Amino acid sequence: MKQIKVVKFGGSSLADANQFKKVAGIVKADPDRRFVVASAPGKRFSEDTKITDMLYSCYEVAAKGGDFEGQFAAIESRYNSIIKDLGLNVSLDKEFVQIKNGFIGRAGRDYAASRGEYLNGKLLAAYLGFEFIDPAGYIFFNESGVFDLEKTTAVLSEKLAKTEYAVIPGFYGSMPNDTIKTFSRGGSDVTGSIVARAANASIYENWTDVSGFLICDPRIVENPEGITTITYRELRELSYMGAGVLHEDAIFPVRTAGIPINIKNTNAPEDAGTMIVADAGDTPCKYTITGIAGKKGFSAINIEKDMMNSEMGFVRKVLEVLEDNKVNLEHIPSGIDTMSIIVNSASIQGKEEKIIKMIQEEVAPDHIDIEHNIALIAVVGRGMRKLRGTSGRIFSALAHAHVNVKMIDQGSSELNVIVGVAEEDFVTATKAVYDMFVLTAE
Ligand code: ADP
Ligand code: ASP
Ligand code: MG
Repeated sequence: MKQIKVVKFGGSSLADANQFKKVAGIVKADPDRRFVVASAPGKRFSEDTKITDMLYSCYEVAAKGGDFEGQFAAIESRYNSIIKDLGLNVSLDKEFVQIKNGFIGRAGRDYAASRGEYLNGKLLAAYLGFEFIDPAGYIFFNESGVFDLEKTTAVLSEKLAKTEYAVIPGFYGSMPNDTIKTFSRGGSDVTGSIVARAANASIYENWTDVSGFLICDPRIVENPEGITTITYRELRELSYMGAGVLHEDAIFPVRTAGIPINIKNTNAPEDAGTMIVADAGDTPCKYTITGIAGKKGFSAINIEKDMMNSEMGFVRKVLEVLEDNKVNLEHIPSGIDTMSIIVNSASIQGKEEKIIKMIQEEVAPDHIDIEHNIALIAVVGRGMRKLRGTSGRIFSALAHAHVNVKMIDQGSSELNVIVGVAEEDFVTATKAVYDMFVLTAE
């Protein structure tokens, strides 16, 4: 039986005609690459603006009844220059008119953003000579706006089984009332994964602008080493904590189907990239850690009370206050008489006084305060399980770099250690961990 490969190309891979040519070269080099998921045109150079961002700001003006002609013309011209530079015999003029009418009729922010992938998908399909499949009819969300994997897989599988070669725009699908809904930012990765599952693909190739997953964000550590093989679980920890290469939800659809993901570089297609697999088996780990990722923007709710531990229901009462205020928690490091609850700062904004008051009423702590500007750093690796002292080495690296550790939390899977530091120490701390485990690793 012939294999099916699903290939997703990110925004920078489809930013202009020159990138389109590289993409066509990659797709045509392997007849198994049958289903192509396309993002909207991304940045052509670092100060450039992604089409998705242009669409969001254009729609904002349109929704207020403002004059959005100029902004819309700039979007049109990005697509028109791709058409011209590729010498394509197609026109998007009809689509532009429809979309403008949609903007005037306030078709919604998601609709607006989704047009970036829709238009780019049309161009790529024309350029490759592939069928165009509009995900509005094949990728579904339920009434609550949650992605409906079952319905999608059923309908999409049937369509793909009858299709030889197709381009499918990423990032969006439709609601039961037929309006357009997008995934969160970076969501074309999720579409790629959904298509891979529905096609029963042997592999999901995710083509981007780096040669795979790097141990650390290249914007923090200069030229970090690449990761050859990573498990879904490790990757999930890293992408949740901000390693932006792959959307954090892109793992789920392929994970249960056991389809590996290969992160590849459109600008260096011969590089092996990173393989993301269910089980790394005996693949040796080069270092104790597989990767480091982190995010700013967390707060700690610090609570102190003597004998807290022996007070029945203490933690539950505190957590109920957060639940009542619809606040998700990230971590709960605790001691005998102290507990801290780490939350996303945005989730408690405007509710802080209320939360403190409610906790005071519920459990009468000796002390309570909220600390802001915390960054969390995840140090992740399946290799950490077998080794003792990883946390100790992290501490020592941070102490050496004069970084004060605000909290440390080790998951029960022993796959990751999360460290909380002041936001201003984020870069120093990340570099220190990288130095300890990679640069100076024996
Ligand atoms: P695409 O548009 O192809 O979806 P993204 O911009 O979403 O690409 O993701 C690729 C970018 O992710 C890289 O250019 C890099 O700047 C960033 N990045 C963050 N963390 C990492 C990491 N650990 N390894 C590789 N790239 C990373
Ligand atoms: N174009 C969308 C974004 O910029 C989706 C994607 O690129 O994956 O977020
Ligand atoms: Mg992306």
